Amino acid sequence: MSRKVEHIGVLGGGLVGALNSIYLRKRGYRVSLFEKRPDIRKAGTDSGRSINLALSRRGIKAMQDIGAFESVKDILLPMEGRMMHSLEGELTFQPYGKEGQFINSVSRGRLNEILINKAEEAGVEIHFEHTCHHVDLNKTEVSFTSPKENVTYQFDLVIGSDGAFSQVRQEMVKIPRYNYQQYYIPHGYKELTIPPTEAGDFAIAPNALHIWPRGKYMLIALPNVDRSFTCTLFFPFDGDPSFESLKTPKDVKQFFQKTFPDSLEHIRNIEEEYFKNPTSALVTIKCFPWVKNNFVLIGDAAHAIVPFYGQGMNAGFEDCHVLNQLLDKHNDNWDATLTEYQLLRKDDADAIADLALDNFVEMRDLVADEKFLIQKKIEAR
Ligand code: FAD
Repeated sequence: MSRKVEHIGVLGGGLVGALNSIYLRKRGYRVSLFEKRPDIRKAGTDSGRSINLALSRRGIKAMQDIGAFESVKDILLPMEGRMMHSLEGELTFQPYGKEGQFINSVSRGRLNEILINKAEEAGVEIHFEHTCHHVDLNKTEVSFTSPKENVTYQFDLVIGSDGAFSQVRQEMVKIPRYNYQQYYIPHGYKELTIPPTEAGDFAIAPNALHIWPRGKYMLIALPNVDRSFTCTLFFPFDGDPSFESLKTPKDVKQFFQKTFPDSLEHIRNIEEEYFKNPTSALVTIKCFPWVKNNFVLIGDAAHAIVPFYGQGMNAGFEDCHVLNQLLDKHNDNWDATLTEYQLLRKDDADAIADLALDNFVEMRDLVADEKFLIQKKIEAR
């Protein structure tokens, strides 16, 4: 006899939580989604973060499954390859694959809005401004603070899609012999903007992921639908140069002039933006098991990875797709489904976590090395 599941609580209405709640609702479950932030559709963009993400085949497949992809198509910008910017400003284009093959740049905020809309249309009960502060793994209870009141709900099953610092996982970590590993790389990241030109056009080629590889660090830029680019500086926290060593607007300007000179033609307010925007850390999290009693981890809560393979969200979306396939296979027998889900996904999650760490070295360093590229082509044959 498998556990009986009618009412599912989903913690976290980010990309994975929103998508997964649609899958579950479409299977006929009562689904309540809790998100600590205000409604993203009313608050505008993602709390001022303009971040965009690379969406690939795995992510698209999951959205096609639940009929959301048609609405997402309009906000995608195809990137057919990487455009390398040398110190001298020379450009080298490396296609990702054969003609017609590409990945897509998508706004995190707008994608989240679309998925929240689809979840609401599907009948998911959504509670914004509900911050989970405690979970009881034995009673399947979750306690929230909200502007109005503090509440505790009980569910038949709880999905923890509450991101890299998951409250659900923090409770699981307390279980004896629970495996947990977190690793911060020495680099952090900061976002900057290349606005559209005065004529309203893209300032640099829109069909590419731009990279300024500089050995120990790099700058990248992905296009946005409004014809701007979001740039991300991946840079060490300490040492020289580092976030710590660039102390004044003058330091920043001089560093960019010396290191990424052609980017400065386009990033207009570097001195102001650099100090206004936060510096964030990059973590890899591995843990196991992902299922304890009636609690299940999914997405970054189960496997946060560094962004250098552009696969964190895509892997989280694939979790949802695989979970749904397993529910089909096991006729909604949750015991059988969850056992297979965590075994099946764990190896893939570990593999992409390691690949993502390795790819940082390639992107920031070897990507500009002709000998390495020739060697890679020989290996690929
Ligand atoms: P999150 O997006 O973190 O969502 C978790 C949600 O839970 C949030 O909405 C949060 O507010 C909510 N929450 C957290 N705690 C609580 C609580 N206690 N109570 C209630 N709600 C809570 N992936 C890609 O596939 N392609 C890319 O190109 C890419 N680029 C990236 C670039 C950067 C710089 C970074 C940092 C990540 C990138 N990623 C990329 C990874 C991607 O952002 C994540 O894998 C993805 O957002 C994970 O989605 P999630 O829903 O699991 O977690």
